[in-house]
Amino acid sequence: SKHFRVRRTLRSIAERDRPVVHAVDDVSLRLRRGTVTAVVGESGSGKSTIARLLAQLYPATSGELRLSGKPVRAARGKSFRAYCRQVQLIFQDPFGSLNPTHTVRYHLTRALRIHGRAGRTAAELEQALTELLGRVHLTPPDRYVDKFPHELSGGQRQRVAIARAMAADPKVLLADEPVSMLDVSIRLGILNLLRDLKERLDLAILYITHDIASARYFADETLVMYAGRMVEGGDSETVTQRPAHPYTQLLIGSAPDPDRITGAGEEPGAGDATEGEEAGGEPPSLISPPPGCRFHPRCPMAMARCRTDVPPRFDLADGQWAACWLYDGTTEERPAPQEAPA
Ligand code: SF4
Ligand code: MG
Repeated sequence: SKHFRVRRTLRSIAERDRPVVHAVDDVSLRLRRGTVTAVVGESGSGKSTIARLLAQLYPATSGELRLSGKPVRAARGKSFRAYCRQVQLIFQDPFGSLNPTHTVRYHLTRALRIHGRAGRTAAELEQALTELLGRVHLTPPDRYVDKFPHELSGGQRQRVAIARAMAADPKVLLADEPVSMLDVSIRLGILNLLRDLKERLDLAILYITHDIASARYFADETLVMYAGRMVEGGDSETVTQRPAHPYTQLLIGSAPDPDRITGAGEEPGAGDATEGEEAGGEPPSLISPPPGCRFHPRCPMAMARCRTDVPPRFDLADGQWAACWLYDGTTEERPAPQEAPA
């Protein structure tokens, strides 16, 4: 079929020896082939949780996952193995995800073997390695194939990590902040590489980021998360040019330069710890999130009902939607909380 779908509905994650953390609530998302879908949010919004759940790094307490329309059970078995091959994860820190004691050849050969794509002869393996390195523009391949991770730049390491993911011949790439630890000057190159792979191989890419300006540049569709909930979605141009949700408006307003791929205020290596600073005020605790609209303590537009009633998604023009009472079309107060539609 033309559309490739991955969809998961999630409720909560019980972490051992901790209260139940509602990392993501009622999140449903669908990735399409040949499409980059950005999930934008601050640290603690649950955006990385979505990538990890989709990658099956840990199970959801409830929910459903489908690959090309077929349910994937979080257990062993054929559909699960196929899923793990077809859905590959790229991490934020390429240094951390590569073993420092092994060469590029080792990492890529191992990935090709795991996925049965190493060929039968040494020449076939060499051919496969050359092809992989070519795909991520590490050419000529013999300049890179016997290097150790520390002999490569951050951008080259991320290219190796992408090549390793491509060794599986995936349909879906889950890219969790793939450029946020790289120098600003090389971020564009990595995003352009991912976009090129998407177009040539008809991949579905989930792009997790705290940088809404980069979503505008790189993603076809953008979803905005706040405190474990999706609050707005639509095509990236619309969401970033005409943000509907007050939280998205705050994010756009606090982005220093919308035409640049920003890493605003971010220290290299600081990762998630500093992400929350950019938008004024702190995201709420997910252990006891605010009732009603979770954004209401920070929202300049908050109304009485926002403190008690969870806003459902309201459809706007051109496929844009927002979970915000401003778009209800009526200002009357409702006494009972509204259930969000599934
Ligand atoms: Fe603000 Fe109310 Fe909309 Fe929430 S529902 S974003 S509090 S106006
Ligand atoms: Mg994260």
